[in-house]
Amino acid sequence: MIEILNLHKSFGSLEVLKGIDLKLDHGKVLVIIGPSGSGKTTLLRCFNLLEIPDDGSIVIGDTRLSFKESKKVPTSDVISIRQKTGMVFQSYNLFPHMTVIGNVMEGPVTVQKRSKSDARKRALVLLEKVGLAEKADSYPHQLSGGQQQRVAIARAMAVEPEVLLFDEPTSALDPELVGEVLKVIKQLAAEGMTMIIITHEMKFAADVADKIILMDDGYILEEGSPLEVLEQPKSTRALQFLNRLS
Ligand code: ADP
Repeated sequence: MIEILNLHKSFGSLEVLKGIDLKLDHGKVLVIIGPSGSGKTTLLRCFNLLEIPDDGSIVIGDTRLSFKESKKVPTSDVISIRQKTGMVFQSYNLFPHMTVIGNVMEGPVTVQKRSKSDARKRALVLLEKVGLAEKADSYPHQLSGGQQQRVAIARAMAVEPEVLLFDEPTSALDPELVGEVLKVIKQLAAEGMTMIIITHEMKFAADVADKIILMDDGYILEEGSPLEVLEQPKSTRALQFLNRLS
C-alpha cells in the first residue's frame, strides 16, 4: 500500500504542496489531473524523492519516511524508496549511448547487482511485453518517440518496483504515437501493476483509473472514482477545469 500524509513542499517562498493526504491500494491505478502549475509533477516527484518534502510522511510498502524541513533524509532511505518506484518521464530520458536492451539492463545490473545474463533475460521478457523485443540491439535515436517511451516503461519495470510513476507519458509524442503507449499502460493496469499517472488524456484517465485526484493550487480539490471526479465534480473550479478540456 501507498500512503502520504500531510505532505508539504515549498520552493523558496512558493508553497507548491499545501498538505496532501492520499492512499492507494496495491494493484490500483491513481490518475492525477489538474491545471498547469497546480503541483502535480512536484507531488509525483516526491513519491521517489526526486523532490524531498518539507513536512509530512510517505509510506511505500514496508518503507515509512517522515520529513521535517530541518532534517536531512538518510541516503539509505532514498535508496530504499528509489528501489520501490520506477519513473517514466515526459521525454523518455533513455541513455543515448546505450542500446535498448542496455538501457533496460542498467538498473538491475548497477543498482540490484544482478548478473548480466540474468538481467538480459529479464530485459528481453520486458521488451517482449512492450512489443519491442526485435529492437533490443537498436539505439534510442533509431526509434520513434512512442517506441522510446515503451522502452522507458520496460526500463522502469526492470527493477521490479512496487509502483510505477508516469509524468505525462504521452505529452511529448506526435498524436499518432500516443495510442501505442497508452495501450502498454492499460495492459500493465490489467495485470495489476500499481501506478500513479499524470495525464491530460481524459478518455484514457476514465478508462484506466481506479481513482482520480484533481489538484488545484497545491491542494486536492476532488478525489474519487472517474465517474465522481469527471462527471459529478462537487466544486465549481473543478467543473471549470473540466469544461475547458472538452
Ligand atoms: P504541474 O505539474 O501541476 O504543472 P508543478 O509541480 O510542475 O505543477 O509546479 C508547481 C509550481 O511549482 C509551479 O509554479 C512551478 O513553477 C513551481 N516549481 C516546480 N518545480 C520547481 C523548482 N524546482 N524550483 C522552483 N519552482 C518550481
